[in-house]
Amino acid sequence: MTTRPTDLQLASWLVTAGRPSRPGAPLNVPLVPASNFLIGQGRHYARDDGTPTWEALEEVVGGLESGRAVAFGSGMAAIAAVFDQLPAGAAVVLPDDCYQGVCGLVEAGAQRGRWSVRRLALSDTAGWIDACRTADLVWVESPSNPLLGVADLEAIVSAPRRRGTIVAVDNTFATPLNQRPLDLGATVSLQSATKFIGGHSDLLAGVATTRDEAFWHALRRSREIHGATPGALEAFLAVRGARTMALRLQRAQESAMILAQRLHGHPGVQLTRYPGLPSHPTHATARRVLKGYGTIISFDVRGDAAAAEAVCRGLGLIRHATSLGAVESTIERRAALSGQQHLPPSLLRLSVGIEDVEDLWKDLDAALRGVGA
Ligand SMILES: *Cc1c(COP(=O)(O)O)cnc(C)c1O
Repeated sequence: MTTRPTDLQLASWLVTAGRPSRPGAPLNVPLVPASNFLIGQGRHYARDDGTPTWEALEEVVGGLESGRAVAFGSGMAAIAAVFDQLPAGAAVVLPDDCYQGVCGLVEAGAQRGRWSVRRLALSDTAGWIDACRTADLVWVESPSNPLLGVADLEAIVSAPRRRGTIVAVDNTFATPLNQRPLDLGATVSLQSATKFIGGHSDLLAGVATTRDEAFWHALRRSREIHGATPGALEAFLAVRGARTMALRLQRAQESAMILAQRLHGHPGVQLTRYPGLPSHPTHATARRVLKGYGTIISFDVRGDAAAAEAVCRGLGLIRHATSLGAVESTIERRAALSGQQHLPPSLLRLSVGIEDVEDLWKDLDAALRGVGA
């Protein structure tokens, strides 16, 4: 378990964690591109034993969640390592609104008979509590992608569970700065470090964090046997990105609230989904369980898919691209993705970056007016 000094706030931990302390050492985490090490000091081979650079990332995220972390080559690699722990024929419970990569993983496994799947609405707290007693894996993603539903994580994660049931929380959207699932009792918390931790759209990485020692060893073993290792440069960049994460999140979150309020009243917008808006169906839960409402807004453009696509093309500062949690604002029509056709056709998912909020609003307002709203 990575222990953050109790007198340090998370923002300070982000700046200081993982740094070398030996006199004469560089101030920053060393970028160590190594596959193997001289025999004698315990560390032999990177895929089995890790590297100093991966360990720096694990220390940063482990301290954020107050658990022990394992870094992977991507968020999906970390997630697959959790599913790898399931016995044959396991029962998996998944939210009805869920990251499409996880849906793909779960469907592929179900088709091969590896597990059976049941989908639940995030707001069905009683259903989730019941699942903790009956399922082998309870997979919670909250806030969810892209409808931004917020689960009553406190109630779900602290519910009595069957021995061996894994309660996993995909904490990518909230980040450990807004929600700490392990504090509530989750077995494992997942981060796509590709998003907020990296924060600059220039790397793929993932981290799984747990307080269960046996589960940590199982995740490490899974990384080793599947070769799901992070790159040296990616781990280095993820640590570098994490240094400014609290600042970036705070700024983008403030802007997201302002933009959500303005989108909510815009004639070109039919529906604005943001957990911070009182009109959001799970706003009351979000207020209770989240420290901040996050930087993602999903809104339905008035009109059809073509109108929404036209808004994307009409934007300048906001880039028409997928992904989220970076310094630059990005927007995308989610129903255009394969497997996402159940979503409202004109739904745009906006990831708010750290640009000036008035510049962002000018861009959005002009693009929305450009399609005739
Ligand atoms: C991006 C994302 C993932 C997958 O992470 P990768 O780093 O792209 O593999 C998983 N869950 C959520 C919520 C995400 O946004």
